[in-house]
Amino acid sequence: MMSRPVAKVQSSRPTLEGAGVRLRRAFGHDETDFLDPFLMLDHFRSSDPQDYEAGFPFHPHRGIETVTYMLSGAVEHQDSIGNRGVIAAGDVQWMTAGSGILHQEMPRRTKEELHGIQLWINLPRTSKMMSPRYREVKREDIPVVVPDEGVQVRVIAGLLAGRSGPVRDLVVPVECFDVDLAPNVDVALPVPLGDHAFAYVFDGGGHFAEGSKHAVEAFHVVMFGEGKEVWTKAGRKGCRFLFAHGTPLREPIAWGGPVVMNTQEELDQAFEEIRSGNFIKDRAH
Ligand code: MN
Repeated sequence: MMSRPVAKVQSSRPTLEGAGVRLRRAFGHDETDFLDPFLMLDHFRSSDPQDYEAGFPFHPHRGIETVTYMLSGAVEHQDSIGNRGVIAAGDVQWMTAGSGILHQEMPRRTKEELHGIQLWINLPRTSKMMSPRYREVKREDIPVVVPDEGVQVRVIAGLLAGRSGPVRDLVVPVECFDVDLAPNVDVALPVPLGDHAFAYVFDGGGHFAEGSKHAVEAFHVVMFGEGKEVWTKAGRKGCRFLFAHGTPLREPIAWGGPVVMNTQEELDQAFEEIRSGNFIKDRAH
């Protein structure tokens, strides 16, 4: 059997982040062995502005990429390399912090619920101090692929059924899809051997391995074992999930909040630079 077994399923945990945003953390520090190069996945979903209005005022990042994907609502952002705008429903912001970026991410009070995810991807030692870069992708530029009846996939990064996502030339080659399955529909998604892979369920639920007895419901992450594909079958309510895979970096991780380096010394240096005002190497042109 080629399809990957389910290695671990866990519920995302209620977490307070930023200036007081109530969100759910699907994975983080404890899962890096399973999910390297992916570091963290936060899921924010609320209809109550009190849960999110405090937002994420100006803060630094170094050594990682952050990928923000909005499903509904909107987030205003601004950063030290001169970007400013709004990430709205269906849009993606793929931010490579590299040597350092200061930014803020402020959810807007809207009638619709605020719903989105932020995924952190580690950078390898050789790219941690690269120049920061930033990509904003609008909803209409993300191809929607229908490889089979009842299967709709938004290709954010990577290649599926001959269509490639708008986020290209990645430092760490990962593929990232938003998969929406109609009730009781199944699909097999190819994954290179050796990659780490996960699925995070937003809506509905389903089975993530052939012959599995337990359905995985929304707000749960599935981490997969080895194999050449991931097989999923939606339950009666359908199933929508973020699916991503990438080649592990297998480097030491020194993680201090928004900064992720290889050694404690590099971490200490980053925080010393933040204190002394020397953190930002590349500013707005
Ligand atoms: Mn941030």
